[in-house]
Amino acid sequence: MNETLCKFICINEGCDSVRKVIFIENFRGKKGGGAMVKSIAEEAKKVREKYGLIGTAIDPTIIAKENDIKIVEKSNLKLKGELVSGAIIKDESDIMIILNAEDSKNRKRFTIAHELAHYFLHLDKNVKFVDYKRSDSSDPKELDADEFAGCLLMGEELVKEKFKKAKSIGLDNDGIVNVLSGIFVVSNSAMYTRLKRLELL
Ligand SMILES: [Zn+2]
Repeated sequence: MNETLCKFICINEGCDSVRKVIFIENFRGKKGGGAMVKSIAEEAKKVREKYGLIGTAIDPTIIAKENDIKIVEKSNLKLKGELVSGAIIKDESDIMIILNAEDSKNRKRFTIAHELAHYFLHLDKNVKFVDYKRSDSSDPKELDADEFAGCLLMGEELVKEKFKKAKSIGLDNDGIVNVLSGIFVVSNSAMYTRLKRLELL
């Protein structure tokens, strides 16, 4: 059995060999809609700049690589019978993001960005054991992570610029969401949420 699979089974069985389980994402129940926190947008912008991520289709795996965070995919990713979209796990010095292999490319990109948000915003190095095995849509940390992911993948200035262009050629709101989600390689719902956050829709 390889190490990754072993760790995954340990999460399911709750054994002690996984020292820290930071956040397990629930497939359902993500309503979005966390408070617009300026500092989160600024933090995401700083991360984009730090890793030289410019343009509309940034690659969040670069950030993971630069921080020695492994990204693995697991088919039929479930926790206690419920589908899981992703997780970030810290096992002493090893940090790993697990993705649901069946998710779309866009969804995986967002999940990576969301898990990186937990890495940058919530990974308290002073706490020896953290064991948030279930996430909840009302959990402020989950909402913040979604906000961070949106800001990371869809930088404000670029979104505003592309929105203005799309509007100028007469696209309606649905058309704008479709076009911009393609440009930024995100789902329509992620783009819709981002445009609402920026009060463009
Ligand atoms: Zn999360």
